[in-house]
Amino acid sequence: VIGKRLDERVGVAILGSTGSVGTATLRVLARHRDRFRVVALTAYGNEALLREQVAVERPAFVGIVSDGVTCDDGWQTGTDCLIAAATRDDVDIVVNAVVGAAGLRATIAALRCGKRVALANKESLVVGGKLVLAARDEGGGEIVPVDSEHSAILQCLHGRPVSEVRRVILTASGGPFRGWEQGRLDTVTVEDALRHPTWQMGRKISIDSATLANKALEVIEAHYLFGLPYDAIDVVVHPQSLVHSFVEFVDGSVIAQIGAPSMELPILYALTHPERLLDEGMPRFNPVAMSPMTYEAVAEGQGEFPALGLGVAAGRMGGAAPAVFNAANEQAVALFLDRRISFVQIADAIRSALDALADRMGDTLEDLFATDAAARRYVRERFAS
Ligand code: MG
Repeated sequence: VIGKRLDERVGVAILGSTGSVGTATLRVLARHRDRFRVVALTAYGNEALLREQVAVERPAFVGIVSDGVTCDDGWQTGTDCLIAAATRDDVDIVVNAVVGAAGLRATIAALRCGKRVALANKESLVVGGKLVLAARDEGGGEIVPVDSEHSAILQCLHGRPVSEVRRVILTASGGPFRGWEQGRLDTVTVEDALRHPTWQMGRKISIDSATLANKALEVIEAHYLFGLPYDAIDVVVHPQSLVHSFVEFVDGSVIAQIGAPSMELPILYALTHPERLLDEGMPRFNPVAMSPMTYEAVAEGQGEFPALGLGVAAGRMGGAAPAVFNAANEQAVALFLDRRISFVQIADAIRSALDALADRMGDTLEDLFATDAAARRYVRERFAS
């Protein structure tokens, strides 16, 4: 092969290396140095942790997105560092663990270059689903989900065509406010909302899990990843987060994927799919200790989790609507974390932005980014106090 590298190990770029998924990826890779090598790392702004990671991994490329970091180490700065890292010749797999719509361009660029994208940035598919799939088909790249629910579905499908699937059932922990009355949610603090019962995650996704906006993003993600109609994607609350999703086949058989709630498992699978690699460091499953496993209907009809219904409706609407949903949610969550809006106002902001902007054009990347900016502006102007 022309240009074949001397080092036969699989080259990995991690976009968002200092976040929750990024650091979990580095822990997984540290157990498999014979198979993988880290060739590129990028972070948003956590320069201190990035510097520590660089000292250990010695990647060929380092990028930091946030302005205001002055680097004399040859690091690339600014948002373009994501694309530079994702498209390098020595990169085989791009772990996209960027938070939010900011990850979309890098996903598209990597797929156009024929890379495998281990996708933790679900917003890439939510905002630009059609464009992402087109980039994959053009460039010969591959999307393997890191999201635990979608990794579960991929593993349950085991290569079977979607025509054999009756429906998938995504599991949701229900977040810290499962079973709360609407009135009680008015008093929720940032600290309450960040206290996720089963998963250790970053701030943005922890809030999304509390509102169930995360599950709406995941329904849209499943629609694009597996080519499933929205009627064939259900959600059930499973507070223990041990079953990561179910696939119900047309013959009535149901296959579930089960494991401890650790992101290391879907990360490793995204790196090795369809193979499996011996990993003694992975948390083990103990059915007795992990009993019982229970399930509940989602209470979205009772007004507890309106963000789920709003997001799925946006997904069904298509066009720019999912981008409006995502951007309004990102902006509202940022305002909530800054203590400038209340928890229940997150869904209010999403609903209002969708009413105003959901029928915008969404055919091109430029349309989608313009819509993204408009939705953020809309939420800031009407809701920020
Ligand atoms: Mg998930």
